[in-house]
Amino acid sequence: MTEQIVLEHVTKTFTTKELGSVTAVNDFNLVVHKGECFSFLGPSGCGKTTTLRMIAGFEDLSSGSIYLGGKLVSDRSKNIYLPPEKRGLGMVFQAFAVWPHLNVFDNIAYPLKVKRFSKNDIREKVLQAMHYCNLDGLEKSFPSDLSGGQQQRIALARAIVVNPEAMLLDEPLSNLDPHLRETMRFEIKRLQKEFGFTIIFVTHDQSEAMALSDRMLIMDMGNIQQIGTPAELYNHPKNRFVHSFLGQSNFINVDVRDGRVYPAGQADVPLWVDKLPEKSGEQVLATRPNTMILNREEGFPCRIIKRTFKTDFVEYLLKIGEDNAIVQAPHRELFKNGEACYLKIYNSVYYDRENEEAAKERERRNIV
Ligand code: ADP
Ligand code: MG
Repeated sequence: MTEQIVLEHVTKTFTTKELGSVTAVNDFNLVVHKGECFSFLGPSGCGKTTTLRMIAGFEDLSSGSIYLGGKLVSDRSKNIYLPPEKRGLGMVFQAFAVWPHLNVFDNIAYPLKVKRFSKNDIREKVLQAMHYCNLDGLEKSFPSDLSGGQQQRIALARAIVVNPEAMLLDEPLSNLDPHLRETMRFEIKRLQKEFGFTIIFVTHDQSEAMALSDRMLIMDMGNIQQIGTPAELYNHPKNRFVHSFLGQSNFINVDVRDGRVYPAGQADVPLWVDKLPEKSGEQVLATRPNTMILNREEGFPCRIIKRTFKTDFVEYLLKIGEDNAIVQAPHRELFKNGEACYLKIYNSVYYDRENEEAAKERERRNIV
């Protein structure tokens, strides 16, 4: 596998009057391979755009180095900085970044004009990019005459027209309605297959990242939390943040004593769990609504507080010690509101209780 985009110890600190100093990206290490579709996933304000802007060359690094195709393109200490137009990247951003005063042809031709291609070359390349992006026949239209989806296709065509080694896509679908998002996701994958470029796709939408990515990373407050395939991250989340960010989660405060797991605030009856933690003491048991099984024979005795019918399953609210938990079960074995039943917990993972400092820092950064 060829390394296409490499970040080594990349850090970016902003200093503002309101917040003082904020490390937007902290010691970021990453290797994206040629032809890979790689997503950055994380809540708003976690540093996704800043990282992308540093790769693109729009933002200076506070420290660290960035390599593109084996070439060092950003390194503060060595005084190396290659400008964006020389990095061989295509970029599409969240806002429809098309020029309203230029028609579709001129919008797409712009990067080629900057690179001083001949008129004939420009015409050929633009028409081809338009064709790939399903914009045939719209050369003379202006962006304001077109739909949001078409405008985003212009941005996409303008990015691929230079035949980039890699595409950086910063929430390119966020402004589109759900149906169009689906279509555009598919289009992006199709273009990638056609051209073979590497993609870094930034999103805060977990299902989008899961659907598109070969691998992805989850970040929080400037720190990479975990890197892996969508399945690895969903099935083996390394910490509570990753667990809660991908898919639905139940977190149950527990106290582990003598090889048994007791729910917090209910010290007499242990839970039925498929796995025990390595250590004793207070911690958090994490599981998903679809890996908890309700039955009438054995397990942890509990009571259904609320039942909600959904299309593909029935959802039950339970109280376990001091926490609420949601269980999803098939329609064929119904439990009644208020019914006493038993619970078995599978795919149990254990984490330390939440760290107070992380919560304070989140508050300081106005992230909820
Ligand atoms: P995301 O794209 O994940 O939503 P950003 O990379 O835009 O996050 O922002 C990460 C953090 O850096 C945020 O706390 C944001 O306020 C801060 N930040 C981003 N750009 C600037 C800037 N130009 N000046 C000061 N702070 C900034
Ligand atoms: Mg952003």
